Amino acid sequence: MESSAQHVDTHTGHVVVIGGGIAGLAAAHRLLGAGIRVTLLEATGRLGGKLRTGEIEGAPVDLGAESMLARRPEAVDLAEAVGLGELLQPPTATTASVWTRGELRPMPKGHVMGVPGDPAALAGLLSDEGLARIAREPELPPTEVGDDVSVGAYVAERLGREVVDRLVEPLLGGVYAGDAYRISMKAAVPQLFDMARTHDSLLAGVRELQAAVAATQRDGGAPGAVFAGIAGGVGRLPGAVADAVRAGGGEILMETPVLGLRRTPDGWLIRTERTTLAADGVVLATPAWSASALLSDESPAAAAELAGVEYASMALVTMAFRRADLRAMPEGSGFLVPPVDGRTIKASTFSTRKWGWVADAAPGLFLLRTSIGRYGEEEQLEREDADLVGVSLRDLGDAVGLTARPVATEVTRWIGGLPQYPVGHQARTARIREAVAKLPGLRLCGAAYDGVGIPACVASARRAADEIIATSTLARGTGRGAGE
Ligand SMILES: Cc1cc2nc3c(=O)[nH]c(=O)nc-3n(C[C@H](O)[C@H](O)[C@H](O)COP(=O)(O)OP(=O)(O)OC[C@H]3O[C@@H](n4cnc5c(N)ncnc54)[C@H](O)[C@@H]3O)c2cc1C
Repeated sequence: MESSAQHVDTHTGHVVVIGGGIAGLAAAHRLLGAGIRVTLLEATGRLGGKLRTGEIEGAPVDLGAESMLARRPEAVDLAEAVGLGELLQPPTATTASVWTRGELRPMPKGHVMGVPGDPAALAGLLSDEGLARIAREPELPPTEVGDDVSVGAYVAERLGREVVDRLVEPLLGGVYAGDAYRISMKAAVPQLFDMARTHDSLLAGVRELQAAVAATQRDGGAPGAVFAGIAGGVGRLPGAVADAVRAGGGEILMETPVLGLRRTPDGWLIRTERTTLAADGVVLATPAWSASALLSDESPAAAAELAGVEYASMALVTMAFRRADLRAMPEGSGFLVPPVDGRTIKASTFSTRKWGWVADAAPGLFLLRTSIGRYGEEEQLEREDADLVGVSLRDLGDAVGLTARPVATEVTRWIGGLPQYPVGHQARTARIREAVAKLPGLRLCGAAYDGVGIPACVASARRAADEIIATSTLARGTGRGAGE
């Protein structure tokens, strides 16, 4: 990194957060809560990263992530902490379908990421042969899982490919836009991995998991809603966190890509086009490729591992229909599409059905979105917008008989949208953390490490912030900074 005659800010007790997605914002919020001076640097002119609201036909919509797992506390806690508690809403429709074997079939109940405890739970979704194959599982010799195994390979060996191709794959694809035969069971479905190591029969293990959940519920741990949205869109969360950060004295600099990082005896120098900031600590909350570039000088080992994290790209096609133009509004919250059937869309969400706030904001419209593109399907993203709308309409016509023309469409491309968690992901993350641990006062967080969902990103941000808060350099710096 160049040293230069640029302005150098020499405050101490100061942490620079790089990246203004939900992870960076959550880290900044956490650090401020601990009384630390924070500057957040965001490369683009927009905060939120993969969280983004927009408008279609005058109605507010999420154009990126749209739902937060509420069974984990972190995202909901953050929303409440920044004043959005009143706006949290469970989905109004929770019944999804799977478009499989030529029909929309109700998403079965009683499975763990598509793996049933009893084959009967998947009746209708799978062929009779597929169900019979599952039923033979208890007779099979145990499957060795070793240090990690792909979800698809393990489940196919135990239960046959059909359940993977028609249920596990679309469910995993909905989260990772990945390939079930590559995705790590240890990282993506850890409860199945733990069970696979301790049980000879997968079906028996899943039944045990289900019984444990049922017992907790009987003991008063009544399940709240599994997911939560925010009226106006989960894309409002970043703005609310940013407001809280600013109100707490934090500084947020937009259109400020970080170009280089250098360690000094006292901390870190963070180089941007306009300035070089000095900080006691750094939270690196960017996608892995960007973290890799920024660590290339100070930790070639971490940089090399980070460069190996692959990403999937996808497009979301949001459409508004006039309700008066529809014969009937499609039922349920939407549907998943197994790739094995050769369709283009991989899912559709009926936003008007799923979210009360969408229905209320646009009473005369029916809003939905489709998603297109998974890991390895980058060519889909090269298609023209009109083409992506056209294939979405064709698939929607076949799936739900929707023949009306939309009154507005919006195509959002998410290039490098989701990091992939292939077999060995956790070992890679551990190697990255080990290398980064040698850099005092620097921590990583975000979707590339411990989970891609919003709560997991917030959790990784908290962890990064808490580890930085605990570093002695920063404690020393904070003392001095507080006296300034
Ligand atoms: C289409 C889509 C739908 C999704 N749906 C859901 C969902 O419904 N529910 C859910 O829980 N999760 C969902 N996810 C996943 C989740 O939204 C993301 O994993 C999460 O938001 C990632 O947050 P992040 O802060 O780690 O990274 P990002 O959102 O990628 O933010 C990183 C930020 O760093 C900035 N940056 C990069 N390099 C630099 C640099 N050198 N200097 C300064 N800034 C830099 C970027 O501009 C960006 O703003 C979805 C993801 C996608 C793509």
